[in-house]
Amino acid sequence: MAEVHQLKGVGNASAALLEKLHIFTTEDLLFHLPRDYEDRSTIIAMNQLTVGRSYLLEGTVSSVDFPPGKRQSMAAQLQDDTGKITLRFYHIYKGLTDRIQVGHRLRVFGEVRVGARGLELYHPEIQLITSYTPLPKTQLTAIYPSTEGLTQPKLRQYIEQALHLHSDHLPELLPKQFCHGYDLQQALHYIHHPPANANMLQLAQATHPAQQRLIFEELVAHQISLLTRRAYLQQTQAPSFAPSQQLTKQLLAGLPFALTQAQRRVSHEIMQDLKANKPMLRLVQGDVGAGKTLVAALAACHPLEEAWQVALMAPTEILAEQHYLNFKKWFEPLGFTVVWLAGKQKGKARNAVEQAVSDGTAQLAIGTHALFQQHIQFHKLGLVIIDEQHRFGVDQRLALRDKGYAHSTPHQLVMTATPIPRTLAMSAYGDLDTSIIDELPPGRTPIQTVTIPLDRREQVLQRIASNCAEGKQAYWVCTLVEQSESLDAQAAEATYREMTEKFPDLNIGLVHGKMKADQKQQIMQQFKDNQLQLLIATTVIEVGVDVPNASIMVIENAERLGLSQLHQLRGRVGRGAQASFCALLYKHPLSQNGLERLKILRESNDGFVIAEKDLEIRGPGEILGTKQTGDIGFRVAKLERDDHLLAAAHRAAASILQQHPELAEALLQRWLPQAPRYAYV
Ligand code: ADP
Ligand code: MG
Repeated sequence: MAEVHQLKGVGNASAALLEKLHIFTTEDLLFHLPRDYEDRSTIIAMNQLTVGRSYLLEGTVSSVDFPPGKRQSMAAQLQDDTGKITLRFYHIYKGLTDRIQVGHRLRVFGEVRVGARGLELYHPEIQLITSYTPLPKTQLTAIYPSTEGLTQPKLRQYIEQALHLHSDHLPELLPKQFCHGYDLQQALHYIHHPPANANMLQLAQATHPAQQRLIFEELVAHQISLLTRRAYLQQTQAPSFAPSQQLTKQLLAGLPFALTQAQRRVSHEIMQDLKANKPMLRLVQGDVGAGKTLVAALAACHPLEEAWQVALMAPTEILAEQHYLNFKKWFEPLGFTVVWLAGKQKGKARNAVEQAVSDGTAQLAIGTHALFQQHIQFHKLGLVIIDEQHRFGVDQRLALRDKGYAHSTPHQLVMTATPIPRTLAMSAYGDLDTSIIDELPPGRTPIQTVTIPLDRREQVLQRIASNCAEGKQAYWVCTLVEQSESLDAQAAEATYREMTEKFPDLNIGLVHGKMKADQKQQIMQQFKDNQLQLLIATTVIEVGVDVPNASIMVIENAERLGLSQLHQLRGRVGRGAQASFCALLYKHPLSQNGLERLKILRESNDGFVIAEKDLEIRGPGEILGTKQTGDIGFRVAKLERDDHLLAAAHRAAASILQQHPELAEALLQRWLPQAPRYAYV
């Protein structure tokens, strides 16, 4: 592969700048696509100009002067038969003053603005017209994403050379039926040099077939990467579990409610996977409160009944503890031993737990990622359940391959409460099968959500206090700075002091991430038992915490959190039959974008709708968390724009892997040179 160094004009400095744009080879330059186009094909009459647009103009310089002012500038008047415009320059140098002289004919290109002398062009590109000056271009001019220090003309020139260099030996990697009528060469040529009459709107929306063809190729490469990863995981054997006969019945008999239709359907899909002797890789999505925990417990019944172990991993200690308590409640009466393992556990207690996991006395192990540290051995691990997948990296998923029994790989069930838009699911989790719990248990009343500026905080406080005095339970969530649990903890402590002073008669509790696990747990238990009416908390309560009687939630500085995270938090209320209420306090004034975001939450209680909007507003990285974003850094595709191509790209990837494995490898090399490779069989 040719390095950019071999191009004319590219030295170490330019190469370093190109590297910032992730351009290393001449081929990378070809795939560095324009972000916009300019029309420099037609000379426009000066009486036809609209402010804010860019034009190619020709005229004669009729005056040049240097108006006095704070900043030295040069103003030149350019005239044609129909009108005039002022050219304004703040950076004055000899080459410029040579060209700009009264009587010279100039061809200029720039954006029209309103200045001190009416219509002006600031620092237009200028060309002195002589008898040798060629006619204007017959093509649109590309504008590329660039970086400081790398000008458009330079970048254009490099890309020009690269196009020339590859003009007759750029391998075609897509079979013809996937090419949208453009082979690679034609597509690249069109995109870098569209004809002057090209449909600019289509180009701007990336819907031209030449663009679609490239986008499609990249999406196919990503799907190939996901499919090979999946195949790698599924190469190994997994234990096959017959559907549980006894345990499922016993578990369900102990519940005060019946399964929803959706829980039943998803449990059935899981059961089918567990029957097979290759590892299940299934993602279960369900909105907050949809009842995923129970689905996980039902999945566990199949391996448990055949004397295999089950591990359940949660992202935080609070959540792991809560799962632990639930699973203990459900499975200990049925004769199973459930243990808990987290990072903070030390000494004897920890050794005992690790021992029980490795000799098989514990059939169910629940914990944080501490569960899967290198030295932890399971006796006979058959199923791994991961709650809140979006914080768990793909590499970790792959590492589980080694935790199995006698060279078998455990089945994997992944559950997420952040509904993932279909597009993201297909690209970030294309290696997983998906089930959706699309129904909430009956009897829930929708949460009423309001937005209130922070300067009315005092009133909100009083309202909450009087509600609590009447026996309701409320969360007050403090967020200060995203990602800083310790600053949030300080804010929560301050709020706690403030409230205990103001409302001495209320029972108020405090939880935050800096507290010891057993301390947190104790407070949560008191809140659950209704000994506390008001719980001041940080976002540690975000996921999974379940106190059905709590019906009020206030979130301070709500504008700082993502939509999906707010929806998660809000999902802590609305779990019982009583009417629930959520107040989002925001700092005034809010940007237009901020207002719109909060409005979405006011208007929708549907996690999938909210996640789609979040994707539109913030892009995929924010939704999936940083770990996954590396996986889906696209060069030409944009998920929020190109999602309609995904399903076809997925099918094309499967067919290429089957019929043209050599193309598959080359596609990975072209589009994902850094990604780890897995042998595909
Ligand atoms: P999530 O999907 O957010 O993890 P949980 O599993 O915590 O939801 O369930 C939320 C609440 O709904 C719990 O109190 C749980 O006991 C209850 N629940 C689960 N399934 C049902 C059902 N089929 N009918 C009634 N309540 C249910
Ligand atoms: Mg949950």
